[in-house]
Amino acid sequence: ISSAASDVYKRQVMGLGGFGESVARELMRLGHEVLGVDIDENKANQLADHLTQTVIADATDDSALKEMDLHRFDATLVAIGENIEASILCTMHLKSLHAKEVWVKAITPTHHKIAEKLGADRIFHPEYEMGLRVAQTMAHPNMLDYIALGDNCFVIEVRPGEVLEDRPFSDLKIDPEKVRLLAIKHGNSVTFQPTPDYRLRRNDHLVLLGEEKALRHFTESL
Ligand code: ATP
Repeated sequence: ISSAASDVYKRQVMGLGGFGESVARELMRLGHEVLGVDIDENKANQLADHLTQTVIADATDDSALKEMDLHRFDATLVAIGENIEASILCTMHLKSLHAKEVWVKAITPTHHKIAEKLGADRIFHPEYEMGLRVAQTMAHPNMLDYIALGDNCFVIEVRPGEVLEDRPFSDLKIDPEKVRLLAIKHGNSVTFQPTPDYRLRRNDHLVLLGEEKALRHFTESL
């Protein structure tokens, strides 16, 4: 996202349903200023004490959007989900009013295409993306998280079996040409590129980089 003039980023979230609320709250936690907008008075009031500001407004109404002085915001997220028409209208107005960055939560492929055509800067499919994530973690039970880098490469976080406890990590027989151990996570502490004599502890997680096939082969042996 483009850099802000001041140190504090200013964000706007249109629609404070489950998704919009969690984005807005997390941005606040990260120290951003967040204006939340919802047509539903209860939703806006519920979050009034948790966001920098909340406004009860129809985000499809361009005169209401003009009053919000959109240029103050470094990015605006359109998180109106179920009502695709409202999401499209809001996106269209934001773009024609020259909002700086417009991010859109899309529900269907058609919604995605229209948002793209309207010039949305980033488009998300939270349910679809979460579905893929859950399927991947179900398919690989000891994998806790992953990032797909493209070209079939992944960074994954795995929990090794207890049989590896107190064994030096050199016992893991990692082929460095195929799989790289980037770090070991233990609770909140992270050891980058541990030395071969590092002894694995209970609840250590391995953070590995490699191609899917090699990672799968390696993690199945853990
Ligand atoms: P989620 O899928 O994120 O849990 P939800 O199912 O609670 O959302 P949605 O229909 O996706 O609800 O809408 C998200 C939020 O957007 C709701 O809080 C709703 O009141 C709000 N909203 C819907 N239409 C508008 C609009 N025109 N202007 C502003 N907010 C709107």
